[in-house]
Amino acid sequence: MTIVASNELSVSAERAPRLSWQESMRLAIRDAGVLCRRLNLADDIRQQAVAASKAFSVFAPLEYVGRMRSGDPNDPLLRQVLPCAEELSEPAGFTQDPLRESTVVASPGMLHKYEGRVLLVATGACAVHCRYCFRRHYPYRDSPSSMEQWQAALLRIEGDASIDEVLLSGGDPLTLTDPKLRELVGALSQIRHLRRLRIHTRLPIVIPRRVTEGLVRILRETRLSCLVVVHANHPREIGDDAADPVCQSLAKLIDHGIPVLNQAVLLRGVNDHVDVQEELNRRLVNQRVMPYYLHQLDRVAGASHFETPVSVGARMIDQLRERLPGYAVPRYVQELPGAASKTPLF
Ligand SMILES: *Cc1c(COP(=O)(O)O)cnc(C)c1O
Ligand code: SF4
Repeated sequence: MTIVASNELSVSAERAPRLSWQESMRLAIRDAGVLCRRLNLADDIRQQAVAASKAFSVFAPLEYVGRMRSGDPNDPLLRQVLPCAEELSEPAGFTQDPLRESTVVASPGMLHKYEGRVLLVATGACAVHCRYCFRRHYPYRDSPSSMEQWQAALLRIEGDASIDEVLLSGGDPLTLTDPKLRELVGALSQIRHLRRLRIHTRLPIVIPRRVTEGLVRILRETRLSCLVVVHANHPREIGDDAADPVCQSLAKLIDHGIPVLNQAVLLRGVNDHVDVQEELNRRLVNQRVMPYYLHQLDRVAGASHFETPVSVGARMIDQLRERLPGYAVPRYVQELPGAASKTPLF
């Protein structure tokens, strides 16, 4: 099956009504040159992108690319996935493991940093490669990839009754197939003191069809209370009407009683303007998604050009409080290595 180049998501969706999310993964753009040509970008931008993509490859699903404006190198969605020359500069303070996560590995693939909750790096695969990702240098190959390899982590959780919540992260845990996910959720639900399962994912945003009936069933049928934390940074990533495929994927979860929260990262040139933040958070609550965190950028090597001063973030939060209901204003936080929780900035 082929998808015809199109800037209108609805057109490609109509042309390929039965395209599965796995096919979308397979058809995603993985080549910087192809992405630039698809969006009619200038040659110099394409050459930069191709060079910078060698350090961290491109991955952009067609659904997500379909939301970008053709011919605009500053498109806020494009900027999140397009490699650029600035990635190759190495400013002081930007490192491979800015959160020093290697110091909180309790078992292969399991990070235990905060009281009561552990994070499982469920897979190294993502449905989009975000240029600012703080795990872009994470040693994913050390993480378990089979139930057998998860046994050590499961035993650690079982032996610590203070843990009542497991976060599935990655990578993106929803790149796992439903049977794999069902197996992992099933094993976790056997641990009596666990009460909640939280899934951190960008898939409902970038490949909305990932929210299948089967997935919803897994999350509904487990004894654990499930929450989903999605990750959208810009209003154009979610749309604002019931016919939008992303809104539909979010509604599918929420209609089935699964709370959905959003976290965003403050990114220069993407969402560092209060009007953009206002529209993003307004759209989220219109869709019943609760804004959770706005993260100050983690200082990962290759992402320095996205950094926004904390003073800018703080002023925006102040303005958002005037413009939006209290529940629509995210918590502006930073992750500091060694801290007992994410640190509120404002
Ligand atoms: C962010 C994070 C959590 C979750 O923190 P909350 O404040 O509960 O959202 C848990 N473990 C790790 C390693 C984290 O980075
Ligand atoms: S989806 Fe998440 S883990 Fe994957 S590249 Fe983007 S920010 Fe990083």
